Amino acid sequence: MLVFMLRFGLESKLTIKTFLVMKYKLMTSMLIASYTANYNMTFTNHLLTGATLAKVLPLPIAIPLAFASHFILDAVPHFGFKNIGSLEVRNNHKKLLASVILLDIILGISISIWLLASGHYRWLLVGLVAYSPDLLWIYRFIVEEKFGRLAPTEGNRFTKFHANIQKYERPWGGFIEVIYAASILLILI
Ligand SMILES: [Zn+2]
Repeated sequence: MLVFMLRFGLESKLTIKTFLVMKYKLMTSMLIASYTANYNMTFTNHLLTGATLAKVLPLPIAIPLAFASHFILDAVPHFGFKNIGSLEVRNNHKKLLASVILLDIILGISISIWLLASGHYRWLLVGLVAYSPDLLWIYRFIVEEKFGRLAPTEGNRFTKFHANIQKYERPWGGFIEVIYAASILLILI
């Protein structure tokens, strides 16, 4: 009986561990695929830019400007790697990419909660408008690439434009993103 209990305990422990590892691997690879296949400046910086525009401008001007700001920011050098569309490049930098993505999501959600809690709904709304063109990548990842099972296609003219403006995705672009985020945060708070 004791042997059985020990064996059962050990096996179920192993099973739970294996399950958690599998789940973690699946989640990280999905996150990486959905974000990095997709030539992104961070969610955080798009959100902060839109929110700041809403702070300093009336809504009818801030909303279209926020949308336009997305493409201007994407053209600014930002974090990433050259040829990030290739699976090999993505796999080579999996852990770093996953960490940056996770940090970006945590920061983006924290800023959103802070905006909601402080009653700045309009700032949040315009911040989300500034981020919105990147929803297309998530749609493509889920619907067209079947959660990363199929390789990304070139896409239509808008997709190609959105990808081609992001010429400088490099690790050093991360410094530019941090400096930009800190500067814009000073205007926002
Ligand atoms: Zn974008």
